[in-house]
Amino acid sequence: MGADDLRRVRITGVPARRLEWAVGREFSLPASVLQSLALPEQASAIDLTHVQPPSLNGLVSDVRLRAAFTDALPHSARVPFSYHYVPAGVRSYVGRQLGKRLRSREAQWGRFPQWPLDLSADFIADWTSSDDVPVTNRPTPVLLTHDIDSPDGLRRLVDSFLGLEESVGARSTSYVVPCAWKLDHGLLNDVVARGHEIGVHGYDHSNRTPFFDRDRRRQRLEEGRAALARYAPAGYRAPSLVRTAGLLEDLADYFQYDSSIPTSGGPFPTPNNGCATARPFRIGRTLEIPITLRRDGTAQFLGYSPAEIGRMWVDDARDIAAARGTVVLLTHCEKRFSGNAAMLEAYRQFLEFIVGSPEFAWSLAGRVAQAPV
Ligand SMILES: [Zn+2]
Repeated sequence: MGADDLRRVRITGVPARRLEWAVGREFSLPASVLQSLALPEQASAIDLTHVQPPSLNGLVSDVRLRAAFTDALPHSARVPFSYHYVPAGVRSYVGRQLGKRLRSREAQWGRFPQWPLDLSADFIADWTSSDDVPVTNRPTPVLLTHDIDSPDGLRRLVDSFLGLEESVGARSTSYVVPCAWKLDHGLLNDVVARGHEIGVHGYDHSNRTPFFDRDRRRQRLEEGRAALARYAPAGYRAPSLVRTAGLLEDLADYFQYDSSIPTSGGPFPTPNNGCATARPFRIGRTLEIPITLRRDGTAQFLGYSPAEIGRMWVDDARDIAAARGTVVLLTHCEKRFSGNAAMLEAYRQFLEFIVGSPEFAWSLAGRVAQAPV
């Protein structure tokens, strides 16, 4: 094993109150760190109560960025299954078969960040922090976000999602593809007038922007933002969550934040992708608000039922609250994703769970972007 490899260990004891959330959980730690602390080489569980934390600069950032980008993804070829574009009839059968096979191979696509929720970077941040201020009990912010890939998605956002959200006092952020179909400004105006946010979802959803040279990429970011400028879009989300270091760097010049990196991306858009943190953080000049809950499309592809998916969201939200993270849910409003009766019911139950739990509070991506990180 190379010194730079990650080792999965369960934490059985911690030296500080700010780390109590980590007891009993598993994290991925660099083998070099375990070696430097003289921890047993092959232990699967470790007690840190009397272990001096490592003082390595850049350790948190190293873990966050190890699988954060999908740089190696040749955009048209490598997405394992472009379920987005398979015709509906074929999708239901072929998709079920592929999903079943994929689900049984979690060890291949969910190692790091570990599926479904890997908070290794947050553990390391708290472990290496010298911060002795008492842990505050601020409510965990909950962000509801949607990717709007089509006119159907926008219609269903307005008809089916916004009312549900407003009924529990929530507002959401919808990332709209700006340059692929005719935008219905009547509907978009309605979204903003009701207190919800609009963000930019790439350019035309062809997953090429991240891979273009810098000038062409920036031109697309400029044009995408301009198409939605009247709604003052504060944030960006990359289509299919395909993102490169170059894209993340450029985004700082056009948006207040990006929200394209999942905490644990699972199999899509490429196996073992994500940032292993549920807390907003900076990548260079860009503020990243990670997508922390399991995504609707991925869970559906893996064959989970709407009721199971609703329970996953609750489980993930509880774990994120314990770790003092930010809950960020991404749903798609198209009928085949979350814009149908069964998924809307799962969504409604999740909203009611949140509003009934005092440890959570509704927030908005634009508001989170205003808070210093
Ligand atoms: Zn999309």
